[in-house]
Amino acid sequence: MSSLVKADTHNMLVPEVRSDMPLTLALSKGRIFEETLPLLAAAGITVAEDPESSRKLILLTTDPGLRVIIVRATDVPIYVEYGAADFGVAGKDVLLEHGGDGLYQPIDLNIAHCRLSVAVPSSFDYTHAVRPGSRLQVATKYVNSAREHFAAKGVYVDLIKLYGSMELAPLVGLADAIVDLVSSGGTLRANNLVEVEQIMEISSRLIVNQAALKLKRAKLKPILAAFEMASRAET
Ligand code: ATP
Ligand code: MG
Repeated sequence: MSSLVKADTHNMLVPEVRSDMPLTLALSKGRIFEETLPLLAAAGITVAEDPESSRKLILLTTDPGLRVIIVRATDVPIYVEYGAADFGVAGKDVLLEHGGDGLYQPIDLNIAHCRLSVAVPSSFDYTHAVRPGSRLQVATKYVNSAREHFAAKGVYVDLIKLYGSMELAPLVGLADAIVDLVSSGGTLRANNLVEVEQIMEISSRLIVNQAALKLKRAKLKPILAAFEMASRAET
């Protein structure tokens, strides 16, 4: 069998995790990348290139044993689950939708804080609409979290999966409400929406591939320790 790939239980090709290969860290561009840089700095590591200007998807670092790959935020758990990345940083929102299978989640990194909330047009009577037994149309990227939230209230929901610009949906009659991430509330206000319920607080977690945790422990351990110290200092 090739030294680089092996067949997993689903008969798919996945990279083999070997202790002598460099560590790969999966990050998404934007706030996760930016907010992870100080954590890497705490481990003595600087990323050699800026993904925005270089457009590269594989970035070298000052540590020859660590490289960074740039993927979509929702894809970070997938790369780590299959071992294409040894570890990564992902929002709790993304991890709840992914399910967290095959991932070890040792540290809340205390970065990219926001909340998952329900928002409706200011004219919509939400209290009246969410009585047990009632039915609500909800547009969201977070269908699993939304389903669970409304099921606990005994409200029937028609979930409409969207991939972005959720704020638009109630304004054009696609849904009564949205479930989306809120930080300042500026986007909601700009679109005449009000946050009527906070479902949960969100921050980003470090996720680690379970095989890498065992086989690359010696290399991973000091980085995880530095991340943990630095993320505690953030509080
Ligand atoms: P894109 O915005 O490019 O469509 P995305 O929404 O998947 O992609 P980001 O906006 O970079 O990616 O969000 C990545 C993570 O950062 C989210 O999963 C969430 O945990 C967190 N996040 C999202 N929006 C905010 C926000 N407004 N404030 C703070 N953290 C946020
Ligand atoms: Mg976004």
